[in-house]
Amino acid sequence: RAKHNGRNAYEFYVESMTQEILARLDMQSKLRIALEDRDFVVHYQPQYNMKNDTLIGFEALVRWQDKEKGLIFPGDFIPYAEEFGMVVGINRQVMEMAMIQAAKWHQAGVYFRRISVNISIEQVEDDNFVIFVKKLLLKTECRAEWFIFELVESQVMKNTETAIIVLQDLSDLGIEIAVDDFGTGYSSLAYLKHLPINELKIDRSFIMDTPQNSDDASIVKAIIAVGKNLNLDLIAEGVETEEQKEFLLSSGCERVQGYLYGRPMSSDDIDKKIFNLV
Ligand code: C2E
Ligand code: MG
Ligand code: MG
Ligand code: MG
Repeated sequence: RAKHNGRNAYEFYVESMTQEILARLDMQSKLRIALEDRDFVVHYQPQYNMKNDTLIGFEALVRWQDKEKGLIFPGDFIPYAEEFGMVVGINRQVMEMAMIQAAKWHQAGVYFRRISVNISIEQVEDDNFVIFVKKLLLKTECRAEWFIFELVESQVMKNTETAIIVLQDLSDLGIEIAVDDFGTGYSSLAYLKHLPINELKIDRSFIMDTPQNSDDASIVKAIIAVGKNLNLDLIAEGVETEEQKEFLLSSGCERVQGYLYGRPMSSDDIDKKIFNLV
C-alpha cells in the first residue's frame, strides 16, 4: 500500500512538473508574440503634492492587452518576462508610448511636471541605452526634463561602473532618477551618494499599515529623514487613507501616488477625469 501511494505521489509530481514546464513555454511564446504585436498598453497613475493638491505627474505602468484574456497586470507577467530576458523589450515599448503620450499632453497645453518610467538594471548596464533614450526623445519631440526614470532599490545596489556612467549621462541629459520601492533593498545607503539620484519612492509595504503599526511608521520617518538630509525628493507609494496622508504630511513627505488620489488609468480616462479634455 505504501509502495502504491509512493508511486502515485511520484507520478503526480512528474505530471505537475510537466504541466509547469508546458505553462512556462506557453507563457514564453505568448510574451514573444505580444512583443512583436505590441500588445502592451500603458496606464498612468497620478502623483500629487498633498500640501497644495497639485498634480505633479504620472507613473507609466504597463499592462498586457491579451487577445483572449483581456488586461493582464504586471505582477502576472513581468516576473516571467524577467526570467525570459524580455523585460528590456517591454520597457522600451513602454518608454516610447509614455513619450508619445507626454508629447500629446504638452501639445494639448495641459500641465504636469513629469512622467515616471520604470527601467531595469539590464538597460542601465548597456552603453547604448543613452543613445536609445536620446533618439526616442528626438523622435517623439519630448524634452528630457519631462521624465524621471525609476530603478528599484534592489537593482540600484548592484551599481557597476557602466551603470554609474549611464545614470550620470541620463542625469546630464536632464532626466531625473528615482529609487523605486525604497526600503526593500536591504542595502547599505552608501550608494546614494555615488549615484545621481533625485528622488526616493517609499515602498507601499511600509505605508500599508502606517501609522497603526509603529515599526512601519518609524521606518517611514527614518526614510524621510534620510531623504531630507541628502536633499532628495520623497514620494510615498500606495497611500489609501486620510490617516496615512495626515501622517505623511506631518512627517514631512508631501508627495504621493496612491488610490486616495487616483488609480492607474488609461490616457483617455486621464484626459476626461483629470485634464477635462474632450
Ligand atoms: P511599482 O513600480 O512600485 O508601481 C506601483 C504599483 O503600486 C502599481 O501596481 C500601482 O497600481 C500600485 N499602487 C499604487 N497605489 C496603490 C494603492 O494605493 N494601493 C494599492 N493596493 N496599490 C497601489 P501595478 O501597476 O500592478 O504595477 C506593479 C509593478 O509592476 C510595479 O511596481 C513595477 O515594479 C512593475 N511594472 C509596472 N510597469 C512596468 C514597466 O513598464 N516595466 C517594468 N520593468 N516593470 C513594471
Ligand atoms: Mg515604479
Ligand atoms: Mg514603486
Ligand atoms: Mg512598489
